[in-house]
Amino acid sequence: SPVLEVHDLARTYGSGTGSVAALSGVSAAFARGTFTAVMGPSGSGKSTFLACAAGLEPPTSGRVVIDGADITDWDEERRTLLRRERIGFVFQDFHLMPYLSATQNVGLPLRLAGCRPDRAHVRGLLEQVGLGERAGHLPSALSGGQRQRVAVARALVTDPAVVLADEPTGALDSASAASLLELLRGCVDELGQTVVMVTHDPVAAAYADAVIFLVDGRVAGRMEHPTATAVA
Ligand code: ADP
Ligand code: ADP
Repeated sequence: SPVLEVHDLARTYGSGTGSVAALSGVSAAFARGTFTAVMGPSGSGKSTFLACAAGLEPPTSGRVVIDGADITDWDEERRTLLRRERIGFVFQDFHLMPYLSATQNVGLPLRLAGCRPDRAHVRGLLEQVGLGERAGHLPSALSGGQRQRVAVARALVTDPAVVLADEPTGALDSASAASLLELLRGCVDELGQTVVMVTHDPVAAAYADAVIFLVDGRVAGRMEHPTATAVA
């Protein structure tokens, strides 16, 4: 059974004449050990989709099911606990804590879960994203691309079943992007994690097993085994 499912998801912002339907009737299922890209024009609902699927944002209607549990009506606190345990999220704007070093930022989800971060584990993740030399730096001392890679390492630190990443290569040069995508591919192939990644980049999407296309808040299509030229 899928590790993550959304059923007939709708999300409306605002009310009355000024309301915006960010998502309308989106359904999708993500099997364990799969890598899916979500593409679509700016404003098509990609970020909203990811935030709803993560339980970060409640949908206006529809259901979100994680590991068979329908979390839609769970309260904020219960969703937060589930998210900490099962989901790694890479925010588009990184959401790093400004007064914590790269190491401390990466270890934070473990601390929030009540665990003491394993130094070697955190160190290893920072090395995997190419930041072994920057481990002690504050976000303000890192480039945009380096911050983004800290955000990815932080999303992986709890070995979550599901990794949801909002444009995780958006701030990276092509070489950094390629190694990061290889890392995510490895999470899927070697660890059986499920990755859902919003991207604008056809080269990034080609690392995925499938692409879902959103247009105007609806699923407009799906492609298996995408290639960069096919999705461009
Ligand atoms: P994408 O990620 O594809 O660019 P979004 O999910 O960010 O799309 O946005 C989808 C639509 O919802 C857009 O029209 C956007 O302006 C609107 N929207 C997103 N977030 C909010 C918000 N917090 N308040 C009002 N409108 C929003
Ligand atoms: P930024 O992306 O912020 O500009 P740099 O490009 O200076 O940072 O990155 C420093 C080095 O780290 C580069 O040589 C880059 O190729 C390498 N690097 C980036 N991402 C990774 C990664 N995920 N795994 C391994 N090395 C990486």
